Amino acid sequence: MRKQIAAANWKMNLSLEKAATLMTDLLASPIELSPNQEAVFGVPFPYLTSINQQIAGKKQFSLAAQNCSNKSSGAYTGEVSVEMLKSIHVPYVIIGHSERREYFNESNAVLAEKVNICFEAGLKPIFCCGEALQIREAGTQNSYVENQLKESLFHLTAGQLKGFVIAYEPIWAIGTGKTATSEQAQEMHAHIRNVLSAKYGSEVANSISILYGGSVKAANAKEIFGQPDVDGGLVGGASLIAAEFSAIINSLK
Ligand code: PEP
Repeated sequence: MRKQIAAANWKMNLSLEKAATLMTDLLASPIELSPNQEAVFGVPFPYLTSINQQIAGKKQFSLAAQNCSNKSSGAYTGEVSVEMLKSIHVPYVIIGHSERREYFNESNAVLAEKVNICFEAGLKPIFCCGEALQIREAGTQNSYVENQLKESLFHLTAGQLKGFVIAYEPIWAIGTGKTATSEQAQEMHAHIRNVLSAKYGSEVANSISILYGGSVKAANAKEIFGQPDVDGGLVGGASLIAAEFSAIINSLK
């Protein structure tokens, strides 16, 4: 059974104090996770260590960095390496969020390097893909997303992709309040799984968790997560509110 994940992306929000309060409130919320479910927190770099201390002992709560360098070490001022993340016990890294692609010019080729460097360090990427509005309007979203997967992931082995995590995030639905319908989400998730199956076989494709991201909130999470190829969500805005995110976690199927 593949893993169901509710992943928070706090982005560049919250002071240390507010981040600690949010996590305290979440830990006090009634959250039920079955053994194949996980809550993952994409926390700003400076708070990773302290939030890790707060979730210590909560087996199904994990941390994610929101980015990592594609270089291993050296004179790259301002960058954070996978070895640094590993040394502070961060298991996941969000790779290729559309905001990184758009504002920091991260190409499919650079993202392939980031995925590789995560694997070398034993970190688990949460690989983001998704199309902009004009691509959706032109009806070419399937080939666009397929190309993102091909250029950043298809050099990997079947063994590496087993249990891998992908987040499909249509850019037109991120932070806009506009959610893809559950049918649109299912359609793209099924397409992604078919593309993976054609290259790696159905066993690998069926082991991959495909999360949906784009204005997920407590009110729509159950319906979206209820789709057969949707294995949870990557959540921005609503993950900053404890009552919202705890309800989203409890909406995992
Ligand atoms: C995101 O940042 O990955 C995201 C999906 O944001 P939001 O939930 O706010 O649309």
